[in-house]
Amino acid sequence: MKARVPMTDIQDRMRRIPQVSTILDDSRIAPLMVGRQGAWMTRLIQETLAELRVTLRAAKSSASSREDLLEGAVSAILERREGLLGPSWTRVLNGTGVVVHTNLGRSCFPPEAAEAAHTVALHNSDLEFDLETGTRGHRGRLIEEKAALLAGAPDALIVNNNAAAVWLAVRYASQGGRVLLSRGEVVAIGGSFRMHEILAETGCELVEIGTTNRTSLQDYVDAMQPGTTVLKVHRSNFVVEGFTEEVALSDLAEACRQHDCPLVYDAGSGAIYPYEDLGLPAGERLLTEDVATGAHLVTCSGDKLLGGCQAGIIFGSQEMITGLRKHPMRRAFRVDKTTLAALDAVMSLYLASDGQPDIPTLNQLGMGLDDLADRARRLQAILAEKAPDSWQGSVVSGQSSVGGGSFSTTSIESRLLLWDGPKAELEACHQYLRLGNPALVGRMNQDGLAVDVRTISEEEINLVAEAFVAAWARLKSSFGV
Ligand SMILES: *Cc1c(COP(=O)(O)O)cnc(C)c1O
Repeated sequence: MKARVPMTDIQDRMRRIPQVSTILDDSRIAPLMVGRQGAWMTRLIQETLAELRVTLRAAKSSASSREDLLEGAVSAILERREGLLGPSWTRVLNGTGVVVHTNLGRSCFPPEAAEAAHTVALHNSDLEFDLETGTRGHRGRLIEEKAALLAGAPDALIVNNNAAAVWLAVRYASQGGRVLLSRGEVVAIGGSFRMHEILAETGCELVEIGTTNRTSLQDYVDAMQPGTTVLKVHRSNFVVEGFTEEVALSDLAEACRQHDCPLVYDAGSGAIYPYEDLGLPAGERLLTEDVATGAHLVTCSGDKLLGGCQAGIIFGSQEMITGLRKHPMRRAFRVDKTTLAALDAVMSLYLASDGQPDIPTLNQLGMGLDDLADRARRLQAILAEKAPDSWQGSVVSGQSSVGGGSFSTTSIESRLLLWDGPKAELEACHQYLRLGNPALVGRMNQDGLAVDVRTISEEEINLVAEAFVAAWARLKSSFGV
């Protein structure tokens, strides 16, 4: 059993914790306690002292004096205040090699998209205004036209993300009726998107058909009744192997036509540029192909392989998209003017280019091995003289991944700058890199600490080098290396 700290000792510690009034009298705190700031500062003080109480109560022993505790509390309060007054995000240098990294904000905007968002953010625009007639106009209609043209669909609707797109499409198509979904496609994407839960919120009756590994066309047809909606979901982040069967979208579309059942297809990533041309394995379909198969509504994300910003796009017939536009919940899913402007710029880049449009996500995926090796070697050269003596840097071959729920099991060969050295130092360094500003997130494995240069832009090479130099300086003071 753990030895208990005597009660008298704990009471003694608690008595040494400063009172709120003592903190308020402190010369560094007192001038800050004015106006609106005074109100939230009071809460910071209370929260900091409450945490101090918990820490002190739990500590095995504590010899901190009244003065030490006051000093510690004041610094903690000032540090929290600083944190609150600055941005609540940190720029990250992505050394993971995961191109569409959901936790790191997925696709980076092309400069044109960032500029467009910047301009409409600072100025008024004809967001919902018809300049010709001087009356109310349709929000984002021209952008939706561009999206529809790109995908070869009669019409399109832009919403907040693909989760919203799926919800709205299924809700509209099913009107709360039966929705067929293969048991092999009741998927979870990321931390919070679980298909059956989204469907439950549409009020529909989910009818799971087939099995986890095999669903046949007959399974669908047997369950089709008048008014039944069929949903098909792209298996974005897993593969099934072995004894499997899946119905092709085109076959399903044909059966749905015959039985007069609406078909909704969640395409997940939604690529417009051919994967093969980026050097990725063939087999993934394009949005244009999905739309052409005859699914009534096709949905996708805006910030995965499309390379744009967070958005969901629904493609379909004019009739269905008009219906969706009028849906009462559409308002709740609509996007901001900056999103529309950014996505518009991305669409224009696709429309204007014959080959590969200049979009960061596509550029990163399409980067050749020679360029990657060159980039990794240049980074190595900058850092060669600065690394701790016990560290060894080398340019090695490794694997990047697409991420973002596409090609999840496919890796693309890449070039990494790998650091080998004492394990504790490598691990501490990786943490220091994450705590820097900008932060650098790399990859730790048994070979060492690696930076995959595929996801580091040309402009970021020097920042990565500076991040290592700063982390090594911290390492020096804590490990004496
Ligand atoms: C990523 C993904 C989603 C969720 O898209 P968000 O834009 O993140 O809401 C839904 N379905 C599939 C198949 C996906 O790959």
